[in-house]
Amino acid sequence: MLYIGYHLSSSKGFAAMGKEALKAGANTFAFFTRNPRGGKAKAIDPDDAAALLSIMEENNFGKLVAHAPYTLNPCSDKENVRAFARICMEEDMERMEYLPGNYYNFHPGSHVGQGREKGIQLITELLNDILTQDQTTTVLLETMAGKGSEIGGRFEDIAEIIDGVKLKDKIGVCMDTCHVYDGEYDIVRDPDAVLNEFDRIIGLEKLKALHVNDSKNPFGSHKDRHEKIGEGSLGLDAIARFISNPKLKGLPCILETPNDFEGYKSEIAMLLHVCEV
Ligand code: FE
Ligand code: FE
Ligand code: ZN
Repeated sequence: MLYIGYHLSSSKGFAAMGKEALKAGANTFAFFTRNPRGGKAKAIDPDDAAALLSIMEENNFGKLVAHAPYTLNPCSDKENVRAFARICMEEDMERMEYLPGNYYNFHPGSHVGQGREKGIQLITELLNDILTQDQTTTVLLETMAGKGSEIGGRFEDIAEIIDGVKLKDKIGVCMDTCHVYDGEYDIVRDPDAVLNEFDRIIGLEKLKALHVNDSKNPFGSHKDRHEKIGEGSLGLDAIARFISNPKLKGLPCILETPNDFEGYKSEIAMLLHVCEV
């Protein structure tokens, strides 16, 4: 069973996303928990959340992968920026409980010159503040392309963060295929070596979701520019082979490619066709 979907707009609510996903042939999806530029989140309608949960159950959906606003910087050098990230994520933990047992992905952030150690320390502190024993959501650290002072471009960064988190069962990893390839992990020529390295440094049991993107740039470019599947430097074959790897079986695969509804629908059909999972 391949769980595949794409990043949907949440502007019309939860049930509307479930219906759109079905129309596209998806059985999971991602969405921003609030306006990606930040700001106050809309109140959640519990009936709308319940309607989505029944759509998911009736159609055997995989876990959803909500995305924190990409503008948050949990390891900024500015106290007010870090405080904003903390408030957003704290609120999002409460909001996610309307959809129990799903995933919430975030970008670890950029240390903006404070140094890697300081960045990792700030992210770890924030996670220890917001995670609670009672939550049913697993928070996922996204693997990054290593652009500028980004944390999360190396598996070691993520391992060190997880190491400092107290509630380890509440934390996991989302691997973005464009980001890791940009970040010099060669999932095209030697995917097993990359997965072995991930396993050795972080532990494959921590890998909970995949962002499936091609890249506009060559291997190791640290640029983070997503491309449509098959039109970038990874290519359709390598992407299909990677997400079909038995070690990644059952993980929700989320497309974040530059597409409209029809584009996503055909990428989903194409990947379902070529992936023998
Ligand atoms: Fe992301
Ligand atoms: Fe991503
Ligand atoms: Zn990206």
